[in-house]
Amino acid sequence: MKMHNFNSGPSILPQEVLTEAAAAIHNFNNTGLSILEIGHRTSYFEAVLREAQQHVKTLMQLGDDYEVLYLHGGATTQFMQVPMNLLDTNATAAYCDNGIWGDKAIKEAKLFGKVAVAASSADKKHTYINKQLDIPADAAYLHYTTNNTVEGTQWHHIPDTQVPLIADMSSDIFCRPMDFSRFSLIYAGAQKNIGAAGVSLVVVKKDILGKISRAIPPIMDYRKHIEAEALLNTPPVFAVYVSMLTMRWIIANGGLAAMEQKAKERADLLYNTLDSLPLFNPTVAKEDRSLMNAVFLLPTPELEKEFLDLCKQNGMVGVKGHRSVGGLRVSMYNAMPLSSVEAMCHLMKDFSNKHA
Ligand SMILES: *Cc1c(COP(=O)(O)O)cnc(C)c1O
Repeated sequence: MKMHNFNSGPSILPQEVLTEAAAAIHNFNNTGLSILEIGHRTSYFEAVLREAQQHVKTLMQLGDDYEVLYLHGGATTQFMQVPMNLLDTNATAAYCDNGIWGDKAIKEAKLFGKVAVAASSADKKHTYINKQLDIPADAAYLHYTTNNTVEGTQWHHIPDTQVPLIADMSSDIFCRPMDFSRFSLIYAGAQKNIGAAGVSLVVVKKDILGKISRAIPPIMDYRKHIEAEALLNTPPVFAVYVSMLTMRWIIANGGLAAMEQKAKERADLLYNTLDSLPLFNPTVAKEDRSLMNAVFLLPTPELEKEFLDLCKQNGMVGVKGHRSVGGLRVSMYNAMPLSSVEAMCHLMKDFSNKHA
């Protein structure tokens, strides 16, 4: 039985992508070789990589002033790699503190330079997005997390700032059209909305590089990756391939506008159901709710456990909240069919009726 997959990450991928990736493990493009067996400098893989890079630029509507890289180490490595490349020892970077991921990014940046917290939602357990930012005029950049996977908040606007903008888009990349040209650097671990674990997408505007004095180990230096045309060392070949297939799927299914429309349908249905059932308590301020991760509570740990058991019995996985915030979380990434959310909403109504 195919599960209703509400996992927060690694998470649901389109069925067509899984089918094609599975076939490529045995025979990639009729080469008689597995995608796992081909060299990363062969024309076979180079075609995959260049197509993936092109899809990123197409979806983001970016030109030649940007470079697309696929790097190891997950989004967590970017918490370090961003300041290592962009923040001089005596300089200051501005960071938004809207949850555990942004918090981790701040801690890592402090290893390299100074951090000014431009805004924090810690006063209300990160259940909202700050509307006012305090950004030092000389900040090297402003860093924020577009979607707070754990807390269930999402920025529905791009912060207004003159300093270079950097975003961790790990859990909502490609869920909606955006003016991506407002950003100097975008990164995203692939395993939430664009593919398999093991690779991070990094999109960087070239004009922000090379401005600091620190020596950078080549493998951590964006410029070295760009010089090597994204083949400085062996990239995670299979993970890049899956992300390329997912972008093909996004484009074939109407692109980012269509992804946003579907995301809104799913989120509207889920949040309207939560709002209509007094037993369930969605924690996030309405205007800041995430299209991707809905976080909510039940009145007691016993009810939470009962609800989770019920989910399990009904083939619904991934509903337990992150260990740091508890409660429950339903993740609804691009590949999620509306029918899975409908099934979840039915279950919520039944559960609510039983406990009315
Ligand atoms: C999952 C996640 C991360 C961490 O990603 P890793 O690939 O595990 O390093 C960072 N930021 C956000 C917003 C995330 O959702």
